[in-house]
Amino acid sequence: MKKQITTKNPYTGKTLETYDYHTKKEIETILELSQSTFNSWSQTEIPERTKLLKNVANLLETNTLEYAQLMTAEMGKPISQSIAEIKKCATLCDFYITNADKFLSDQIIETEAHESFISYDPLGTILSIMPWNYPFWQVFRFAVPTLTAGNVGLLKHASNTTGTALAMEKLFIDAGYPKGCFQTILVNHDDIETVIAHDTVKAVTLTGSEKAGKSIAVLAAKNLKKTVLELGGNNACVVLDDANLDKYIDTMVSARMQNNGQSCIAAKRFIVTEKIYDTFLEQFTGKVKALKIGDPEKKDTYTSVMAREDLAEELENQVTKSLEKGAKVHYGNTRKGAAYQPTIITEVTPNMPIFDEETFGPVAAIIKAKDKKEALDLAKNSRFGLGTMIFTEDIKSIYHNISDIPDGALFINEMVKSDPRLPFGGTKASGYGRELSKEGILEFVNIKTVYIN
Ligand code: NAP
Repeated sequence: MKKQITTKNPYTGKTLETYDYHTKKEIETILELSQSTFNSWSQTEIPERTKLLKNVANLLETNTLEYAQLMTAEMGKPISQSIAEIKKCATLCDFYITNADKFLSDQIIETEAHESFISYDPLGTILSIMPWNYPFWQVFRFAVPTLTAGNVGLLKHASNTTGTALAMEKLFIDAGYPKGCFQTILVNHDDIETVIAHDTVKAVTLTGSEKAGKSIAVLAAKNLKKTVLELGGNNACVVLDDANLDKYIDTMVSARMQNNGQSCIAAKRFIVTEKIYDTFLEQFTGKVKALKIGDPEKKDTYTSVMAREDLAEELENQVTKSLEKGAKVHYGNTRKGAAYQPTIITEVTPNMPIFDEETFGPVAAIIKAKDKKEALDLAKNSRFGLGTMIFTEDIKSIYHNISDIPDGALFINEMVKSDPRLPFGGTKASGYGRELSKEGILEFVNIKTVYIN
């Protein structure tokens, strides 16, 4: 079994750092500190917690470039997108600074009792298992509401973003949080069961693949611990006859290509109705060809390498198998190591891997539909349920389709995106539970009924 984690810059191929896994004894010490910190942290008032959150936001602002460069080095995100990610984390802090008190205050419910209300008590230590694709944002959208609700957090980050994990641990300490409030654990897959089973850990949240979600959910269920699962997606981007391409084609390209195509909520299947198909394909291809590819550390780079070579190989396999089933390369499809050229594949149909499975990289699958009905049926034809986007000028008629879309989100004339003010999460194989907004902060609290006669 490996005893160390080695991080590597996917663009240069150079080794960045080597870290030792925590020993069993070290893990026990971390868990003990977590429990003792919870005992005092849970007793603090919400304004005290949000005051520290303000310090977090300030540190994010002061150290934006440092954090952004670390992410870019570890997983290849173009630097301007890394900077935007750090700034988004600061807006998340601002949102809960303003709203946490309101979300967590007792809620009076009129009954026959002298007094009855709901109180929202923290649970304890919450374990988070996080992916590398938005290494700061994914962790922040767990940590900020969870800590503000009075819980403490443990982070098992993706191995390839271990440096980022440790930087976030330091950030919370520098912001003035007690040391045990937010700790990183360096553990391999075999040791995670011990952590989940530990009495100190009260719940688990995982953002990652369906495979990881299933195995963690089983471990948590064995120990009767609650889970929130934010898993993969295969979002459809439906482009109807009356879509305003002049206005939205850039949005559609970003929806697939930003973050080198490695986003759970990316537009993975473009389902385009017949009448607009040729115009869409011409405009979309023109924009994809114009994307600036290159060194992720350069400010004007839009797409660069994927996070690891094995991930690029996996994507290539999905495309190759789809081509064998009749799909056609319209543009791109060359790979050199972890660098996958932005690619457009046409004549995609159900039962091809790039229709049925999540493609986690810069490959747009284009599907032709006869009309709106067929387009929406194809959109719904997925095991996943993170989100759907529809581009049309006929907003009125879309209202009839809202309840018919079985996903966690529906975006009209906009790409599916996360926003601190709105709940975020999926259905079906995309997982369950919600992050962000009021719903997110209430995932890890004891919603307690108090009845005083
Ligand atoms: P991943 O391979 O599932 O890994 C995610 C995290 O789970 C990592 O920390 C990984 O650790 C850990 N992990 C995986 N299997 C585990 C096991 N058996 N026991 C303990 N830990 C385990 O996913 P990824 O490649 O990092 O991220 C891409 C996936 O995340 C995509 O499917 C994407 O759609 C999904 N995602 C979903 C959302 C959402 O909000 N729904 C957001 C972002 C990403 P190691 O690194 O040590 O393997």
